[in-house]
Amino acid sequence: MNQILSTSTVGSLPKPSWLAQPETLWAPWRLEGDALAEGKQDALRVATKEQSDRGIDIISDGEQTRQHFVTTFIEHLDGVDFAKRETVRIRDRYDASVPTVVDAVSRAEPVFVNDAAFLRQQTDQPIKWALPGPMTMIDTLYDAHYSSREKLAWEFATILNQEARELEAAGVDIIQFDEPAFNVYFDEMKDWGIATLERAAEGLRAETAVHICYGYGIKANIDWKASLGAEWRQYEESFPLLQQSSIDTISLECHNSHVPVELIELLRGKKVMLGAIDVASEEIETAEEVADTIRDALRFVDADKLVPSTNCGMAPLPREVAFAKLSALSAGTRIVRDELSPA
Ligand SMILES: [Zn+2]
Repeated sequence: MNQILSTSTVGSLPKPSWLAQPETLWAPWRLEGDALAEGKQDALRVATKEQSDRGIDIISDGEQTRQHFVTTFIEHLDGVDFAKRETVRIRDRYDASVPTVVDAVSRAEPVFVNDAAFLRQQTDQPIKWALPGPMTMIDTLYDAHYSSREKLAWEFATILNQEARELEAAGVDIIQFDEPAFNVYFDEMKDWGIATLERAAEGLRAETAVHICYGYGIKANIDWKASLGAEWRQYEESFPLLQQSSIDTISLECHNSHVPVELIELLRGKKVMLGAIDVASEEIETAEEVADTIRDALRFVDADKLVPSTNCGMAPLPREVAFAKLSALSAGTRIVRDELSPA
């Protein structure tokens, strides 16, 4: 990872159509039993090769072994009843039927550790694994046990830390926590959100990252973004706190968003995963567009701390679009790399 401007994705990639229904969030699996287990591994192989062939330096699992970035992790925990469902408002934006916390939460077994060990075998490049953050986890549940969002978040942070330590032992180089809730619940984020995130990352030797975004390109998110006005200044709330935190890398949305690029200055000293690819549009960025986004950000972050990336996950996109966007990301990055260190 010594190369400047190492490229990465935020996380999810489209799954092969033989594994799950395309262009769908929470897509149902098309295989079951042993065939599903084998299919997930094959999909991990393909995702690894596509990223590598298209010039991505930090390889992610593309979430090929999970249905959803939050739900799948929670499904593996004790204390949550998936049959008992309540309707709640997710990130204050859309209603969803969610499972209920009925008892003390705990992790009986590792959730993703075997998958991560398999990914480790597929590549010599650095690998990154994403977990949901504590605050985003509680936001997708109905709590009938703790009666306190904060208390439940601390419990999840402890569980996430157990999982993260085992992912690290399995050879994961970067552990990323997805906390889109940090763009919504500012008071709770300040009171205990950052603290529970640091607890989840406590004691890790692996690099740590937090991804904060404006969400997948689904209708509820597009409507919400339309209500945010000409300048999106939500990061102004979290960045100063994260700059002071123990988290190494902050992943943010940039290209085609209304985030003022100078907000990156608030992260001075941290690594920045810069969203240079729009995941809410099927239009493929040109290499020059990607290069422009990177050049713009370089006014506020040093090249050795900048990781060109996507704005968010690409699971809902058509597969060939997502892969073409990966190629655009690395082509644009190469332009800037050559400018900074001509051969
Ligand atoms: Zn995201």
